[in-house]
Amino acid sequence: MCKACFDREYNEFDSYSEFEEFNKEFDSKIAKSVHFVENGKYRSDSHAVYKCSNCNQLWWLSDPDNHWRGYFLKEHNAKRKIDNDERKGNAMKYGCLVIVFLIIIGLIKSFN
Ligand SMILES: [Zn+2]
Repeated sequence: MCKACFDREYNEFDSYSEFEEFNKEFDSKIAKSVHFVENGKYRSDSHAVYKCSNCNQLWWLSDPDNHWRGYFLKEHNAKRKIDNDERKGNAMKYGCLVIVFLIIIGLIKSFN
């Protein structure tokens, strides 16, 4: 494992204190071993991309904001998380459509 990189990944920041803990580590590494690359976009997600100058690992950071809990992950794990979230979101949408459809069928039947 690369020593210049971050010790751990955050699938989401569970609390503000966890985000502060992350920020401390982030501050100690940013500009020394890890550098900002660009603001990236993947599907509907936007994030900041950082790169380790020692091993070239890309890290994606999304700041927590109100209900959004953010994340800090290696690129491939961030992509997987976003893909999963999007799939879950779609399942929810279709689930709601099916329920609405069943209610309408029920209403039509009750009027007949
Ligand atoms: Zn590294």
